[in-house]
Amino acid sequence: MQLIDKKQIVKHEKCGDTMLPKSIDKKCGHCARIVNFNLDWYSDSTEVMFTTSRCSGCGEISRFYLVEIKENEDGMYTGDLYISPVAFEDRKMIEGIEITKEFSESMFRAYKSAVNVYNLGEWSATVVLCRRLLEGITKSLLPESEQGKPLYRQLELLSSHVELQKPILTLAHAIRVGGNLGAHFDLEREPDESLSRFAVDLLDYIIEYLYILPRRIEQLHTHIEELPNKIN
Ligand SMILES: [Zn+2]
Repeated sequence: MQLIDKKQIVKHEKCGDTMLPKSIDKKCGHCARIVNFNLDWYSDSTEVMFTTSRCSGCGEISRFYLVEIKENEDGMYTGDLYISPVAFEDRKMIEGIEITKEFSESMFRAYKSAVNVYNLGEWSATVVLCRRLLEGITKSLLPESEQGKPLYRQLELLSSHVELQKPILTLAHAIRVGGNLGAHFDLEREPDESLSRFAVDLLDYIIEYLYILPRRIEQLHTHIEELPNKIN
């Protein structure tokens, strides 16, 4: 069960002296899409109320509980609303990522958008944005003369400009292919939750390898150099 934030309750309905949550924008615990749940309440218990609502996306049923029903300042009764089952927590941006000379503001924005649309359950948009950021990263690592080439070719050229291990390039190609799947309409093969999750996961690995790790290693070196030399 998870407490629903008051901001996610978009409409209330007055029933006697009780304000009942009527319309909720919330991530569905079954399909992980943000949908609107319409709530109809039948019982009028003064302590706990219960109802169910069907997801407009996947059609599965979620349960809603209104508890701790108390009188507020306006003399109306309201309570805390809980939902079950609970969707996965929103995905966060990788820890330690920030705008730097190497990781530009526009790359940061593209990364933030990819994580946001993933959290909204927009799978095609997620893989497309992951691919776009990969393109941004690749371009930033290549000389200008190579930047107009197709992404596939740019990735091949990368290893001659930066020191990259083969697994990282394989990851990059996987994101590229996933992004193509999102960008071109294909009735048979549509990106789903797991493909989007893989794409964002892989992107996180690449960002960590290229931008976060080098900085941490440098910080560690500086720290070691600054340690008092106990041998002398
Ligand atoms: Zn659903």
